[in-house]
Amino acid sequence: MGHSGAAMKRMVAMNEITVDLYSDTQTRPTPGMREAIAQAPVGDEQRDEDPSVNRLCSMACELLGKEAAVFMPSGTMCNEIAILVHCRPGNEIISDRTAHIISSEGGGPAVFAGVLVHPLEGARGVYGAEQVEAAIREESRHTPRTTLISVEQTSNQGGGTVWPLAAIESVADVAGRYGIPMHMDGARLMNAVVASGVPARDFAKSFNSLWFDLSKGLGCPIGGVLAGSHEFIQQAWQWKQRMGGAMRQAGIVAAAGAYALENHVERLVEDHANARLLADRLATVPGVAVEPEAVETNIVFFDVKGTGLTAADVYQALLERGVRIGRMGPFRMRAVTHLDVDKADVETAADAVSTVVGSAG
Ligand SMILES: *Cc1c(COP(=O)(O)O)cnc(C)c1O
Repeated sequence: MGHSGAAMKRMVAMNEITVDLYSDTQTRPTPGMREAIAQAPVGDEQRDEDPSVNRLCSMACELLGKEAAVFMPSGTMCNEIAILVHCRPGNEIISDRTAHIISSEGGGPAVFAGVLVHPLEGARGVYGAEQVEAAIREESRHTPRTTLISVEQTSNQGGGTVWPLAAIESVADVAGRYGIPMHMDGARLMNAVVASGVPARDFAKSFNSLWFDLSKGLGCPIGGVLAGSHEFIQQAWQWKQRMGGAMRQAGIVAAAGAYALENHVERLVEDHANARLLADRLATVPGVAVEPEAVETNIVFFDVKGTGLTAADVYQALLERGVRIGRMGPFRMRAVTHLDVDKADVETAADAVSTVVGSAG
């Protein structure tokens, strides 16, 4: 009733998914997290009176070594508001061409801040200092002004690549010489921290603003925390208010974030090991192209062109076997490991890919 046939079919399929590698956004709150949510002291977050939100923001400041932080309903809002604070209409941001701010935020940088994004051709989402320097516009009446450099840690479309600290520092060096602020889209910053052993605050040091997502690998239902100087966060807060992102008893969700920072960070190593296992297993499937050595964190891209099937074919056939893996192009697929996926699930998924691809030939 009221559902189209296709929507209904999708819903039926959804209920039967047993291994969901579509994204690390697919996690459900654990019993411990639900308990933390139930116990959360709350107040009016717009008035800075929610103890759980305040606690989460202090934890983020401590973790990132920044003066101030603001809890946001989503990572997308963290990016968009940071861009609004750093830029004016007609300015230009430098980022990798695969960046989430380009591909997945509805053109937000153009819509809200009125800025252009200058895409660089990085290696798996990681670009170099020379590329940045070459992309910075010479000031003239013809050129947009370069006013922000954005780094995605880890690079999502790059395949979960960790930006090495040295690479960040060499980009920051150029930024410093030209007086251009740096922003980090740290949706998966904690994956980078766990994979590299570099503390979050060391990664954060070069950035004027940065945020991490709570609803990705950390396993929370929603939210992100944006951090920076007092001055930056004051301005970010005004945008949050303006855009209707200011909340009331938001401690109900912020409590999940604090719980995740205490309980779900170290376990990210399991997700990374599972992603590597999946890549190793997929590498043995005829016609599937994957580079296991390139898997540094929880994201595995693979190509099915050699199987004679399209990504859409494989997606559908896997879904019928209760396994969901994203398709990211005609032949490219993306599997993401997370809190709700264990080693056995990964083996199930790899076997399913093998079966689906094998029955094609
Ligand atoms: C998911 C993601 C975002 C957006 O976060 P939401 O909380 O889903 O809005 C931004 N950047 C990257 C790299 C992401 O993976």
